[in-house]
Amino acid sequence: MIAHVSKWVLPVSGPPIRDGAVVVAGDRIAAVGPAAEVLAGFTGMICDHGDGAILPGLVNCHVHLEFSALAGKVAPQARWEDWLEATLATYGALSPEEIEAGIALGMEALWQSGAVLVGEVTNTGASWPHLETGPLAYHLFYECLGFDLVETFDLPEKFPFFGRPEVAAAAWVSAAAHAPYSVSPALFRAVAAWNTARSGLQTVHLAESQAEIDFLARGNGFFEGLLKRRGRWVQDFQPPGPGAAAYLEGLGFLGPRTLTVHGTQLTAADWGRLAETKTWLVLCPRANRYTGAGEPPVPELLQAGVNLALGTDSLAGNWDLNLFGEMLWLHRNFPAYPGDLWLRLGTLNGAQAMGRDREFGSLEPGKKAALGVIPLKGGRNFWGELFTAGAAGKWRWIG
Ligand SMILES: [Zn+2]
Repeated sequence: MIAHVSKWVLPVSGPPIRDGAVVVAGDRIAAVGPAAEVLAGFTGMICDHGDGAILPGLVNCHVHLEFSALAGKVAPQARWEDWLEATLATYGALSPEEIEAGIALGMEALWQSGAVLVGEVTNTGASWPHLETGPLAYHLFYECLGFDLVETFDLPEKFPFFGRPEVAAAAWVSAAAHAPYSVSPALFRAVAAWNTARSGLQTVHLAESQAEIDFLARGNGFFEGLLKRRGRWVQDFQPPGPGAAAYLEGLGFLGPRTLTVHGTQLTAADWGRLAETKTWLVLCPRANRYTGAGEPPVPELLQAGVNLALGTDSLAGNWDLNLFGEMLWLHRNFPAYPGDLWLRLGTLNGAQAMGRDREFGSLEPGKKAALGVIPLKGGRNFWGELFTAGAAGKWRWIG
């Protein structure tokens, strides 16, 4: 047994504790509370972290490790379509060795910045062996694209990955639908069917660009051109009409086990659909800024009661994979909200979204002892100082 004491302990599941302590037994948390109470009669080792804050490991619900080798190779864009074109062209020029090396670097960056659980979106399965042997807990989403897959089918018929016995048996592997502009209704249904027979957890990029909204409403524009150039266009395509969330709901794709991602272009009607179906929305606000996707309507989403979590997206479309950066961005852009809300989005909410809150997301007895400390100077803006230090890489693992 070891007790970690610090000026602040942030359990997330409860208010900050001044002069707090966290007792760790093996790989589990045994007790959390004010040091004066928790340490009464305690005879184990005590580790004092001074003026810092102890907090749980972060939960990053949306990364693409396979794009890590694109770090610094795709410049920030004012227009999302330009970012997508640049990413597709640059990714196509990477060698398998570069992609593998990038995965390892991306994982290291996640771990060093305090992430303990990640939702990884893979297009090839290449990141899976890395995650399986690395320090991070994970859920692997194998992403499916197929706008032209219009006939009904079972997922392994078109995506052999899902026919592999080790995939069918894996607890932390799901199918993901890429986005409404790249996935046919038949593919959405096949993805949902495969997931429903297992953990049910699934993810989809949703309402990331105005081009996507226009395409769903009218069936033309940027994505018509892109799909035609890639040989995926469907001649008699009928656009589903306005409302990205309503479209997915009609396909049976929304619900408490679905993580929609981005949502920068969602409308008031969409917020209601997500809230009512208890669908998660993973915000990646710095990534949205990087790619030109716009800004998520955070106050409106909170007001509507949408379940929110956080992700960084990839190094093709963000400055780094440090989730404290997203919290800092939210804190600066929405100063009227209490800072602990953003920490909750990046920890407990993420763990709940991925169905792993029995192990991760807060400092509570019985949960994994996945915790770290961030040194603080004791300034007046507690949350601003915490997120700034975290974003500057001051996280240090202690359990
Ligand atoms: Zn993404």
